[in-house]
Parts: sequence; C-alpha cells; structure tokens
Amino acid sequence: MNGEVPASVQAIYDEVLHRNAGETEFHQAVREVLESLAVVLDRHSEYTEMKTVQRICEPERQIIFRVPWQDDRGEVQINRGFRVEFNSALGPYKGGLRFHPSVNLGIVKFLGFEQIFKNALTGMPIGGGKGGSDFDPKGRSDAEIMRFCQSFMTELYRHLGEYTDVPAGDIGVGAREIGYLFGQYKRITNRYESGVLTGKGLGWGGALVRTEATGYGAAFFAEAMMKVRGESFDGKRVVVSGSGNVAVYGIEKVHQLGGTAVACSDSSGYVVDDKGIDLELLKQIKEVERGRIADYAQRRESADFVAGGSIWDVPCDVAMPSATQNELDGDAAAVLAGNGCRYVVEGANMPATPEAVDVFREAGVGFAPGKAANAGGVATSALEMQQNASRDRWTFEHSEARLAEIMRDIHARCHETAEEYGSPGDLVLGANVAGFLQVAEAVHAHGLI
Ligand code: NDP
Repeated sequence: MNGEVPASVQAIYDEVLHRNAGETEFHQAVREVLESLAVVLDRHSEYTEMKTVQRICEPERQIIFRVPWQDDRGEVQINRGFRVEFNSALGPYKGGLRFHPSVNLGIVKFLGFEQIFKNALTGMPIGGGKGGSDFDPKGRSDAEIMRFCQSFMTELYRHLGEYTDVPAGDIGVGAREIGYLFGQYKRITNRYESGVLTGKGLGWGGALVRTEATGYGAAFFAEAMMKVRGESFDGKRVVVSGSGNVAVYGIEKVHQLGGTAVACSDSSGYVVDDKGIDLELLKQIKEVERGRIADYAQRRESADFVAGGSIWDVPCDVAMPSATQNELDGDAAAVLAGNGCRYVVEGANMPATPEAVDVFREAGVGFAPGKAANAGGVATSALEMQQNASRDRWTFEHSEARLAEIMRDIHARCHETAEEYGSPGDLVLGANVAGFLQVAEAVHAHGLI
C-alpha cells in the first residue's frame, strides 16, 4: 500500500477500523480494495450517495457457534465455528470452510470479503461468504474428524441451502471433510440436496476438475499474463509455496504448460529439487500418506529439505504463493525481485503483504492478486452446482476447457478495467474495480436492503 488511503475513502476505512476492532486481516483486505475504488467513486456519485461501499463492507449476517465433540480418548473438546454470509447480491453465499487453529472472526471476514469480488469476477451467479473453525485436523484420526464435522454441521445446517449458502473446502477441508459434512446435512434435513456443498466426491455429485481447479486456474491465469508480454511458461523456473490442494495442482499445470516447478513447502520448511518436482511422489506423500514435505527430500536424490527458512530465497522466474495469508513479506519480495523473478501469481488468498505488493509494483514484476488468479476453484464449484441442478455430468476435457476459458476471461477483464481506469498493467486495481462494479450494480438494483 502506497502510504495513505485516498481521501475520498478515508472515512469509510476509519469506520471499518472502528466497527471491527482488532481484525487486522479484514482491515488489510478492505484497505486494499478501498485504495482501488477512489477512481470509481469519482465517476459514480450514486455509490457515494447510497453508501454502497459501506454496505458491501458490512456482512449481511455473521454466525458464530459452539462445536462440542469427543476425541478418541473420550475427552470433551470444544471448538468455535464461524460462517460469515457476506454478500448475496449476485447469488447464494458461496465460499469455503477453513479448519485451522489460526481461524478467528477477522480471518473469516477477510476471506469472505475477498470472496465477494472473486465470485463476481468469475461471471457466475454466486455471492460471497466464508466459514470455518479453529479446529486443528492435524494428527486427528478419521473418526475424530468425522465426529467434529458432524457436530459442526449439526449447528450450521439451518443456515445452508442450495439457494441460500453453499460452502466448499479450504485449508484443512478436503473431500473427506466435505463427505462427512454432506452426510450429516442429508441426515438432519432428509434431503439429498447435492447443490448445498461443493467439492463432493466424484461418485456422489462431485464434478471433475474441481480438485484441480484452483491450482490449474492459477497457472492458466499466469499463462494469460505472460502472453500479454509475449512470453510463456516454456523453460521457466517456478517456485510454489505450500503443498496442499492449490500447490499440488498448480505444479501439475505448470509442468503441463512447459514450466518447471523446482520448490514447494509446508509449515515446517521447503524442498528444492532442481530436476523439477516429482509430482507422483509429491501426491503420494501429501494426498495418500498425509505426510510432511521433508519426506519428499528423503525419497528423492535431487531434492534438499530446508527446515524453516524462506522458500522465496530460491531463485525463479515465476512465484506462486499458494499456502496462506501474509506468507510473502516486503523483504522476501525484494529477494525475489532481486533474483530476477518476473511474475508473482497468488494461488492462496492474500499471501503477499501490502509491502510486498509495493515492491513488485516498483520493480515492474507482473503481479496477479488471489481474488483473480485463484478464482478457478470457486468458478468450478459453480459449474459443479450447475451439473447438480441439471442432474448432469461433464467430461474432464469439457470442464477443463470451461475453466481455462473462465480464467482467460477474468484476466482480460482485469487487464481491460485497469486500462480503462488509468492504471494499465495494474491487475490489483483491475480486479478490485471490475469485481466491485458488478456487485455494486446489483446492490443498487435491489434497493436499500
Ligand atoms: P491445504 O490445506 O490443502 O494446504 C495448505 C498448505 O499450506 C499446506 O501445505 C500447509 O502446510 C500450508 N500452510 C497452511 N498454513 C500455513 C502457515 N501458517 N504457514 C506455512 N504454511 C502453511 O489448503 P489449500 O491448498 O486448499 O489452500 C491454500 C490457500 O489457497 C489458502 O489461502 C486458501 O484460502 C486458498 N484457496 C484455496 C482454494 C481451494 O479450492 N482449495 C480456492 C481459493 C483459494 P501444513 O500442512 O504444514 O500446514
């Protein structure tokens, strides 16, 4: 962020700070959007008069609930559950559930706020929401995960519905958890309502390419960015942080597009493999064995494991931060840019700090914000809802072609909007403005509600 918030949105920002004290990630996400919106408010006085921005900054509904469950030793555990139904101007609330000990209301609100604009950018009829719990799935047995998911859904089900609120996965919530959540929803409601959750198993309402969609989509977005500069993935060295759903399938598509991913990580450290990450081995360790990234280096001669440390020290042409928020700070950005990195594409939500984004801007590094670059996941979730509603099932090829087209469209929209609003090449501004305009028009059309 370049110092001051523009004067025309300062009062809005001050109010957000005041009403949401201590929610630093939420403040950060709102501020980044507000910085882009000054130019919009100059052209659209109706949004100032109707307090459209202020209304979008206030969630429509915030649900916080107790999640009691029993662990394998019979001990009672109590977690906190959240669902923030942020904005339904474009469709039912849509956004993932995160299970991670760091989850709190501010984090869920930041994610839900981002989700509003991301979902708008996909061009699909979906509103924005997000949820989760401070439950830590690490080291828990299947039975414990199931009991937790059942207790979580026993409270949440009353707020959900295919036309109301449709959660999906996020950190710590994959196909296994979606299965347990769906089972409990079905049991309580006595309805086989496929469209109430996305990311379902392929045998019971899930859609092909949903698992791969966020990572694939980020790589497609990167490809579109490079094309504008007359470049491609061919021969490029790529560093991808994380080794979860987004990272694994980001790496897969990077390889298919001609690049070489040479490093990835988890919260204990990172591996460097100059021969290129062996995807089969990575999937075996992370998806089948649910192991750690250090195991990869033990089983691959060309790889080294670095405990702790910064993965951004590894020289690359393209960086795809795909682990978590604020994982790439100003210092790391300076190292990346200094080592010749030319593109940074956010696979995760808000992984680059404002200081890092400033460094990239000044160094002329192409930067893609998560709300545009990682929108492929939610877009494919909307395609899953579409298939559920029509009792249909698309092929992998058809679904992937739709995803690729959606990602190219999102890139084009961000690129063109940035030019139209006087900041060519600034995809942060392009994404924020294009997303906002679509939501704001609908909010305006629906009257003061
Ligand atoms: P996963 O749970 O599958 O993987 C997360 C990865 O990030 C793991 O390797 C994990 O390591 C690492 N990680 C998580 N927290 C931290 C931390 N505090 N410090 C260092 N590493 C960390 O999650 P996803 O891949 O689904 O999500 C990754 C990011 O992408 C998140 O920001 C999410 O919001 C975003 N996203 C995901 C979408 C999806 O479809 N899944 C859609 C759009 C965005 P460890 O195992 O050690 O914790």
